[in-house]
Amino acid sequence: MPKEDYKVVIGLETHVQLISDSKLFCSCKNPVTMDVEPEPNTLVCDICLGMPGSKPVFNEKILEFALKASLALNCEIAKDMFFSRKTYFYPDMSKNYQITQYEIPIAKNGWITIKGEDGKDKKIRIRRIHIEEDPAKIVHKKDYVLVDYNRAGVPLIEIVTEPDFSSPKEARAYLQKLVQILEYLGVYDSTKKATIKSDANISIVYNGQQGERVEVKNITGAKEIERALNYEIIRQLNIFRRGGKVVRETRGWDETAGVSRSMRSKEMEEEYGYIFDPDLTRITISEKEKEKIKEKMPELPDEKKKRLIKEYGLKEKTAEAIVSDAGVADLFEKACKRVSVKNASAWMIILLKTLNYNNLTYKNSGLKDEWVIEVIESYEKGEYSDVVSEEILRKMVEEKADMQKIVEKYGFKKVERGEKIIQVVKEVIAEFEKAVNDYKAGKEESLNFLVGQVMRKMKGAADPKEVREKIKEEISKTN
Ligand code: ZN
Ligand code: MN
Repeated sequence: MPKEDYKVVIGLETHVQLISDSKLFCSCKNPVTMDVEPEPNTLVCDICLGMPGSKPVFNEKILEFALKASLALNCEIAKDMFFSRKTYFYPDMSKNYQITQYEIPIAKNGWITIKGEDGKDKKIRIRRIHIEEDPAKIVHKKDYVLVDYNRAGVPLIEIVTEPDFSSPKEARAYLQKLVQILEYLGVYDSTKKATIKSDANISIVYNGQQGERVEVKNITGAKEIERALNYEIIRQLNIFRRGGKVVRETRGWDETAGVSRSMRSKEMEEEYGYIFDPDLTRITISEKEKEKIKEKMPELPDEKKKRLIKEYGLKEKTAEAIVSDAGVADLFEKACKRVSVKNASAWMIILLKTLNYNNLTYKNSGLKDEWVIEVIESYEKGEYSDVVSEEILRKMVEEKADMQKIVEKYGFKKVERGEKIIQVVKEVIAEFEKAVNDYKAGKEESLNFLVGQVMRKMKGAADPKEVREKIKEEISKTN
């Protein structure tokens, strides 16, 4: 193959479903916040079904949500804004238009910092953020489609970046960071049904030859963006390698098949025929209002990370993990008042692993600060071994119960000391003669094996260091 030199340019348009109680322009319940998937077409009204004569009413909560997101992404906020109708015919929009913002978005010219391909901080520019309604959900069957209007009118913000990503990995890092910030703000929750869907624009310059821009639509989440973009890069490179031309088009990402398929040649945004929506009034955003929102802004992950490193002397990796969940970060600081920083941080990492495994954030885990701190405290006092403490914490997450209830239910044993250990050590020495002899012959690993046997017999309720010492003592006595 001849020498290849290529550069990838990627920009993202990301739709985030916001977790307000009600929809964007009506008082129907927002299905993305519900624990159980509602029956199709049960969360609907005249407004979100687009019945003649119905009039949308803007949900003020969404203005607050969108302003928070805009400020957190370092954007300029519009002084006033309005909604427009984006006209198209498709069964997912019963009005034949989608209410969105086109001419004046709520915010523009922001940025977000991510870890770039080279491991250094990289600024990704945000071109604009606008508010719009989600269309209905279409379910494709063999010879017909089903439409579920529950999703019609779910509030979205669309965040559009400049084409600043140079790899699929950077696009993934961006979405992860974005989710983290939006969760801190309380406007999105990855553990609920709310989704984050991106359309990616991607073009390649191949041996100095500029390829056309291709849009890949409908990519859900951060992991999938990396996968879809990797696929698209290979597809475009193969066209170049064969001497072909990449054409400007829109493709759809099929997550199940792991491929993208051509949908249509790319239309221009102007072709949608945007028109001002006279049903909704212009909205003025005063300085006073902006100030009010600023006061309500929480400390964001980057600032928090810096502060934790400085105040508690945490390693960067540990701080990064702890701030990945706002609730865990708060808990960490509380715990530090009662236990050592070393134990507090180590147990936060264990807690995070358990939460992730159960697809929970701390906030919606149902855990109480006091419960978790008690586990760390009792571990620090040496009451329970690390193995048992971890098991208690895991059960706590699964069963949403305090330490006492978990210990009673599962009969977890406190760490035994002295006599009790010696008794078990004697049993193990008698039982595993070969290992004992190996150890005597200088095989250090045999000691680890014996420690393991004692710990197993004691169901983890002993301090491995003490067990080790006791085994050595007992063996030396047999000499
Ligand atoms: Zn409705
Ligand atoms: Mn959109």
